[in-house]
Amino acid sequence: MELPPMFFEVHRDMPRQGPGSDDSTLRALRLAGPLPTAPDILDIGCGPGAQTLCLARATGGLVTAVDTHQPFLDDLAARAAEAGLSEKIIPRNQSMCALADPDGAYDVVWSEGAVYFMGFEAGAGAWRRLLRPGGVLGLSEAVWLTDTPPAEARAFWDSEYPAITSVGENLDLLARSGYRVLGHFILPSSDWMDGYYLPIRARLAILRPLHAGNPGAQEVFALEEREIRMYEEHGDSYGYAFFVARRDD
Ligand code: SAH
Repeated sequence: MELPPMFFEVHRDMPRQGPGSDDSTLRALRLAGPLPTAPDILDIGCGPGAQTLCLARATGGLVTAVDTHQPFLDDLAARAAEAGLSEKIIPRNQSMCALADPDGAYDVVWSEGAVYFMGFEAGAGAWRRLLRPGGVLGLSEAVWLTDTPPAEARAFWDSEYPAITSVGENLDLLARSGYRVLGHFILPSSDWMDGYYLPIRARLAILRPLHAGNPGAQEVFALEEREIRMYEEHGDSYGYAFFVARRDD
């Protein structure tokens, strides 16, 4: 997916690159049940690493955090240093489609708001081998919350992520892909607004006048704002679900 440079101008220095919160990461971790002491964790599509830091803190484990956008990884490294967690976090520039770790390298494979780059089914399928038997997968993913979404929301997702489906479909998919589901929940709307969209809206207010004479930039800003409004208007018809599942052997 080729994103315009102005997209990264909007999205840089943001706390997160998708809906989420420490509360939701911790809630999902609780669904995982007891983990080994200092578990080995892989955080896929880590972005600037809000959940990476949370995972490292909460588990005392070693978190390998992969992403393909180096500025996000640099952000994460800086945040880890600031939090005194540099020893616990390994940022790695690598595609989620080409993870070369040996089979069974991790106790936990985690991905918040990123598996859609591969597709939920492909990601859950391909990443299973990275888990030790009994290891835990935690994925957050966009889902329909109704069978009859409004046309505007349907059109938006048809263009953004046509594979978006229901919670039930994703639960079935996990079961068919060799996992036992431990639990799932829908992220609260504060995870979308406070965690993600409001910081972006504040950034847009700064960038708009700075790029007043640049129609290409204004188009990027308008698309961002349209996405936020869509959520404000139709966010009861779609959301993000967190799925937690155990590798079932
Ligand atoms: N988990 C983070 C980021 C979510 S946004 C958060 O919730 O804040 C999705 C992330 O996936 C972005 O950081 C993007 O750079 C990354 N990404 C996109 N394609 C990727 C790929 N092929 N491999 C690894 N990461 C990828």
